[in-house]
Amino acid sequence: MKTSGVITKDRLVNDLTKLGVKEGDLLNVKASLKSIGYIEGGANTLIKALLEVVGEKGTIVTDSFVNCYPLPLSKKHRVIISDKDTPSYAGAVANAIINYPGSFRSTHPIQKFSAVGKDAEELMNNHTPESYAFDVLRVLIENGGKNLKLGTDEKVYGVGTTHVAIGKLKLKQKRRAVGINYYDDSGEIKTFKLNWAGAGHGFNNFIPLYRKVGAILNEGYVGYAPSKITDMKMTFDVEIDELKKNPKIQLCSAKDCVDCRLSWGFSEYDFARFVCVNLMRLTPIKLLKALATSYLFKYVG
Ligand SMILES: [Zn+2]
Repeated sequence: MKTSGVITKDRLVNDLTKLGVKEGDLLNVKASLKSIGYIEGGANTLIKALLEVVGEKGTIVTDSFVNCYPLPLSKKHRVIISDKDTPSYAGAVANAIINYPGSFRSTHPIQKFSAVGKDAEELMNNHTPESYAFDVLRVLIENGGKNLKLGTDEKVYGVGTTHVAIGKLKLKQKRRAVGINYYDDSGEIKTFKLNWAGAGHGFNNFIPLYRKVGAILNEGYVGYAPSKITDMKMTFDVEIDELKKNPKIQLCSAKDCVDCRLSWGFSEYDFARFVCVNLMRLTPIKLLKALATSYLFKYVG
């Protein structure tokens, strides 16, 4: 396979259509821009191509998450106010959509989403500081949404819906107290505290199960990026079923992974066991992290 050459908008439109993106699609897009190759015009060209394929009745949604900071906020972090222009750490496409003409961004202070297209305004206006962090994806699940992943499963993590399943099942995780300041409706500065369980490192464990039930609608290439479209309702149903049976399915298997072995309500180790099992490979940093997770962090979710 060729691994060089400029990717044009026409090529993207062609590849997306061939992959199975359709007019009117409600798409959650998770993309590794680098995996696609060198795109003429960059991330904006990808957005244009996506909008051309889904048409006027379609909607494109992306992660637009922002950094948060240890609580209580330090002097340095107190002056950072999360708003519609705060840059996202979620990559080039996320940041291009924030600035794309006609796009909308949710007002959730940390787990923001951005969207452009028919349902963008409504979806984003409904995702507020009071919403569950991933509520936008729940709405997508209920409205025939599809997840479009551009890049390998290793590069682009998950299909979005696993977070909704973790929230729905109220799985609890010990997390550091972090947050960010934001303006509430009356223009007053408030501190928002992170209040949801995160993700284990084993979301890819679900992929064979998605495949088994036909939740992977199509696979192919967009530019040079291995890509797939999944049905969000179907992947969500798989996740709910499997997590009910075994919540550890979403964890990695590394014995010295503090997050997976210690932080979840159903994690199998306690601090003493973690230290015993990993005696020979514990770095000071990992030991501190294990201590903090076990004795300082509080359950959220
Ligand atoms: Zn892990």
